[in-house]
Amino acid sequence: MLNLTKITKEIMVMKMDKNTKKSELEVKARQWLTERGVTLDDIAELVYYLQSSYHEDLSMEDCLENVDQVLTKREVQNAILTGIQLDKLAEQKLLDQPLQKTIETDESLYGVDEIIAFSIVNVYGSIGFTNYGYIDKQKPGILERLNDKSTGECHTFLDDIVGAIAAAASSRLAHATADTGLIEDNLG
Ligand code: MG
Repeated sequence: MLNLTKITKEIMVMKMDKNTKKSELEVKARQWLTERGVTLDDIAELVYYLQSSYHEDLSMEDCLENVDQVLTKREVQNAILTGIQLDKLAEQKLLDQPLQKTIETDESLYGVDEIIAFSIVNVYGSIGFTNYGYIDKQKPGILERLNDKSTGECHTFLDDIVGAIAAAASSRLAHATADTGLIEDNLG
């Protein structure tokens, strides 16, 4: 017979390990987001903006939890580090031409910033694309600040990355809600 208490305990330990032992890559990605002026709360607000009309009683805690989980994915961490690195080099004028000018001025036909962001949106399936497209057009909250060219900062990559994290977290939230619904349907 299965020892359920033991299994539950083991699952709890696994979860704890997952939450406390962050890889160097994850620690760095989270640190760089903060250093560039983006908090998890900022991204959670975008998730709330995207999802509040679809989920009754959606809380900021739910949004924050989903953002936090998106940040545990290696693809996401790699996109964050790659994008922010290029933004920082462009800000310090350390890139070779013509790339320096392209990234510094956020040239509209460049598009590689969006391609990197897509690697984040992809993590939770295709419904993320709709959310990404929408938030990229609306530019609410933190996205408006990241797009403010008068600051002298360069966030050509980061604005798309932040929008993509919010879109991915929204997809995760939608999938989780659908799964909970299925469980409730089966139980009820
Ligand atoms: Mg951009």
